[in-house]
Amino acid sequence: MRVYLDNNATTMVDPQVKTAMDPFFCEKYGNPNSLHDFARDTHEPLKTAMEKIYAGIHAPKSDSVIITSCATESNNWVLKSIYFDYIMNGRKDHIMVSEVEHPSVIAGAKFLESLGVKVTYLPINSEGIVDVKYLRDNITPKTALVSVMWANNETGAIFPVEEIGEICKEHGVLFHTDAVQAIGKFRVDVQSFNVDYLTFSAHKFHGPKGVGALYVKKGKEPTPLFHGGSQMGGLRSGTLNVPGIVGMGKAMELADDCIDFEMPDVRELRDYLEDSLLELKDTFVVTPREKRTPNTTLISFRGVEGEAMLWDLNRAGIAASTGSACASEDLESNPVMEAIGAAEDLAHTAVRFSLSRFTTKEEIDYTIDVTKKAVERLRSISSSYAYMPKSQTNEA
Ligand code: PLP
Repeated sequence: MRVYLDNNATTMVDPQVKTAMDPFFCEKYGNPNSLHDFARDTHEPLKTAMEKIYAGIHAPKSDSVIITSCATESNNWVLKSIYFDYIMNGRKDHIMVSEVEHPSVIAGAKFLESLGVKVTYLPINSEGIVDVKYLRDNITPKTALVSVMWANNETGAIFPVEEIGEICKEHGVLFHTDAVQAIGKFRVDVQSFNVDYLTFSAHKFHGPKGVGALYVKKGKEPTPLFHGGSQMGGLRSGTLNVPGIVGMGKAMELADDCIDFEMPDVRELRDYLEDSLLELKDTFVVTPREKRTPNTTLISFRGVEGEAMLWDLNRAGIAASTGSACASEDLESNPVMEAIGAAEDLAHTAVRFSLSRFTTKEEIDYTIDVTKKAVERLRSISSSYAYMPKSQTNEA
């Protein structure tokens, strides 16, 4: 059996999305900016797709949703435009990001730091949730931007973006949220709280890879990263990725429907998986369920190297993860486990299972069985587990 439980890294393209995209490869392949009928064939489908994307995040027509190539581009764009628009001219000198942002924000922040920008890395608490008090205490009149993700890719922890948006508003600071792991998991409504920029990416919600977006509130348009043609109102030049945009539109529509219809089932399956694995002794989950996206569980099995566990799972046909996809070739501990200050031996033991609306009960039953056997096998050959003082285990 092959079981895909790495949906926070990427998702399968929904067959309905693929069908919607198909005509735009070999039939309707005109460049939308040309003047002939091949171009015109793309206009209506693009308009419909953009309407679906706006509707999916409840963006008013007056605001902009700028199509990009991925969330990494959107995140980089926000950070770098802040440098051009607020820092370089001396108006501001400081930004704040949580210490568990995706590398596309952390690396961008570090780059800005190398240019002299002051960066505050906001800590997270023992539940893996960003410390809002620390933010409130450290925001200054010179702060240009706060960038805090909506839902964490490792733990699924949902961050209090409404409260953070309010603090930013009080201080006249721009607020960006990376909503990559939020779309399709719970309702995203950019009008329901204060947010200036919001990032998302189609391949995280059963759309194609290579297409993402940045929502921009009216009047907060960032300096472009890509200069060139007039696409996206000149804010992001480059020939439009027509199949990608059509695919993202369809994926957004399905993701929105799925919040009420399929996500409750996904949550039930995730809880069943988690409850079953927590029956094993010395097994921990950091973020409480009610503060998490419905599809994610990050579980630590004391005495079991996460990488070794992945190896066993993969041999049995199960795909899971130990950290963000980009980092899983390095034998590093999970960044969130490190950030909450987990002991070194526990930080290495976290395994993330992320489900989707395509996950079945049969697949979860199989995963429970394989994982339990793997934990038993790996603990039986782990010298550190064998010699661990009983006080560190929950063994009687
Ligand atoms: N932000 C978060 C929270 C993510 O989980 C990811 C992907 O893992 C990204 C950004 C980057 O997305 P993309 O692959 O579209 O660049």
